[in-house]
Amino acid sequence: MQPFYLVLGILELLLGIIIYRLLKNESNQGRVVMKKLAIRQQLRRVTILVSMLLFPITMNYFSPYVIIDGASQGIINGSLIMFGLMFFSALFLGRLWCAWGCPAAGLLEMWFGVNNKPARGGRFNWIKWGIWFPWLGIIAITAIAAGGYRTVNFFHLTDNGISVTQLINYVIYYIVIGTFTILSLWFGRRAGCHYICWMSPFMILGRSLRNLFKWPALRLEAEPAKCADCQQCARTCPMSLEVNQMVKQNAMENSECILCGNCVDGCAKKAIHYTFKAG
Ligand code: SF4
Ligand code: SF4
Ligand code: SF4
Repeated sequence: MQPFYLVLGILELLLGIIIYRLLKNESNQGRVVMKKLAIRQQLRRVTILVSMLLFPITMNYFSPYVIIDGASQGIINGSLIMFGLMFFSALFLGRLWCAWGCPAAGLLEMWFGVNNKPARGGRFNWIKWGIWFPWLGIIAITAIAAGGYRTVNFFHLTDNGISVTQLINYVIYYIVIGTFTILSLWFGRRAGCHYICWMSPFMILGRSLRNLFKWPALRLEAEPAKCADCQQCARTCPMSLEVNQMVKQNAMENSECILCGNCVDGCAKKAIHYTFKAG
């Protein structure tokens, strides 16, 4: 193990946070958002920042490559287990992982201070499916060619559970955070989540299944009569959703919604709230 790379990775992310804070102070738009952040949103930001700092340790548990390597040897590895958990958690909690747990979330929300423009949705959101289906096909074919899964090793291709321990891991780590950063800086808020994320389809499918059977789950509920159409919810939605329109139409279910609660906490009219029920 070469802890040098791990320490360097963490130091560089810390440097990123410092730059983010400096840029945030320069940004009027950012300052307004910071002022209005509710306790829950501050807590959420801290959680995803901690997750981001742990990314040099956890990277391989979300890796689109390590799952293929595991499949080629018949090993159920950490990322296969994590992707499975994302699917099952989405049956009850939707994409809460994206709001509270994902290491990339911390990185992407860090860049709000630099580029806070909404990311284009619509057909651009389909790009990730063009990545996900062939990738899933490769995993399935590799596992079948290897004779199926035979063992479980959560720590497959990690060094005592730590992902970034060698130069090659460090390069991969940089490619991942570099790609998500470029997309955020170029296209806007959490663009990587919309366009290229290989994990979100697991949660979108889990949520779609729950919507089909209408099982009890965490959801947003709107009271359109209370809405003053101030658009604060749409301006601060990290997933660039037109939340005010969703409220007006009383249609709060959206496959890109991560249930972060920004709209719940930021609405002065209390027109949106969380609920956990069937339907
Ligand atoms: S969409 Fe993907 S990258 Fe974005 S927060 Fe969710 S899991 Fe992480
Ligand atoms: S913040 Fe509240 S009042 Fe303003 S548009 Fe959104 S739901 Fe309506
Ligand atoms: S609609 Fe609300 S809960 Fe959903 S992502 Fe946007 S701000 Fe978060």
